Amino acid sequence: MTATRRPTSDFVRPDKDRFLGEINPYEEMLSRLRRAAALLKLEEGLFKVLSQCEKQITVSLPVVMDDNTVEVFTGYRVLHNTSRGPAKGGIRFDLQVNIDEVKALAAWMTWKCAVVNIPFGGAKGGVICDPAKMSIGELERLTRRYTAGIIATLGPDSDVPAPDVNTNERVMAWVMDTYSMHVGHTVTAVVTGKPVELGGSLGRREATGRGCMFVTLQALAHLGMKVKGTTVAVQGFGNVGSVTADLLQKQGCKIVAIGDRSGALHDPKGIDVEAAITHYAKHKSLEKFKGGKRLSNDELLTLDVDVLVPAALENVITGANAKDIRAKIICEGANGPTTADAEAILDKKGVFVIPDILANAGGVTVSYFEWVQDRGGYFWDEETVNRRLETIMVHSFGDVLALSKKHKVNMRTAAYMLAVSRVANVHRLRGIFA
Ligand code: NAD
Repeated sequence: MTATRRPTSDFVRPDKDRFLGEINPYEEMLSRLRRAAALLKLEEGLFKVLSQCEKQITVSLPVVMDDNTVEVFTGYRVLHNTSRGPAKGGIRFDLQVNIDEVKALAAWMTWKCAVVNIPFGGAKGGVICDPAKMSIGELERLTRRYTAGIIATLGPDSDVPAPDVNTNERVMAWVMDTYSMHVGHTVTAVVTGKPVELGGSLGRREATGRGCMFVTLQALAHLGMKVKGTTVAVQGFGNVGSVTADLLQKQGCKIVAIGDRSGALHDPKGIDVEAAITHYAKHKSLEKFKGGKRLSNDELLTLDVDVLVPAALENVITGANAKDIRAKIICEGANGPTTADAEAILDKKGVFVIPDILANAGGVTVSYFEWVQDRGGYFWDEETVNRRLETIMVHSFGDVLALSKKHKVNMRTAAYMLAVSRVANVHRLRGIFA
């Protein structure tokens, strides 16, 4: 039997946030945790607890392929910490998936949920596979087998996945259906990022970019800069980048540069973001968009702008180019766009960096709203979702800024301190079960 192949873009998200190439991502996470723990004078025992992942599951997943051969895939689900509530974190399908990456992403979810103070712990899942080479039927069977493999940990009260690299709402619907078939009734709250007709939330798609917009406005106000006419360059024009650019333009900022994997465009008079979004939706690329002078992605990063929004990949601002960055504010839409070397250089230059675990937390915040709506069986209008998101992002920015002033540390260290102290406090209250 031959496989009927549909374009991959119909059912998987494009490759994204593969990060930290040569650096072990879990070690990177630990170095940031160590710094926050030292500043907080965290008890040695608690540091040991937070340095470890609570649970690591490895499953081997036999799948009958369309040609009737059997392939066996490897999948992981890691729960880093569940002291504050059910584990929350995406599932990625990618050839680069490895256990240290999944562990690091799980821990980052713990810190991200704690920074915005939503009642979740951190988790992540991954399956080593190349979805671009699989038919939709093969992907469905793989998803269902993976879900069955980790079903003992899944549940609205224990572990709630979401989409991540190369998975989307289609995949979440399969996870939800498989779980529901096992427990014998429909459980929409077992995953977030679902189709709206299946219990998904209005406003989820735009939530990460909207959150970036809210924290950027907060940063401008903090630095005494005007919104109107503020110049912005955005790297990445997918979900996060395009929504951030669109919403900042609607607030009065001037988006002078945008870019995607095909390169960048620069127009000092301002780019028509809506036209770019229409073009991108049609062509899946900005390559032929006539909206400014062509630049390389590296040139975009070092433009003389007020705000730079890296919203594509990890490790784009490095020790090599940080000295050339001219932006006054960096809003990290992507996960891990700034290396530790770059961070030190940016600090010396006085660049105000809104770190990823705060800047892009709008996505998980509206995932939390989705979970709440599913459990309540009562759905909110989009205006309510957006207003509640704004409240959380603005408060979280204020909390991190206050800590950064109090301890004279940058926003990233303050965000880690806030997150680690919140998780540690819950551990102190709960004690150690024995
Ligand atoms: P996406 O796939 O929708 O968009 C990624 C964009 O980056 C595309 O426009 C792509 O062309 C561009 N890109 C890829 N390689 C590039 C390169 N070398 N140079 C410049 N641009 C390049 O992804 P997304 O959902 O917007 O996610 C972007 C980042 O934000 C990732 O790091 C992701 O983990 C992070 N993030 C996303 C969400 C979310 O809700 N989508 C939430 C939190 C964090």
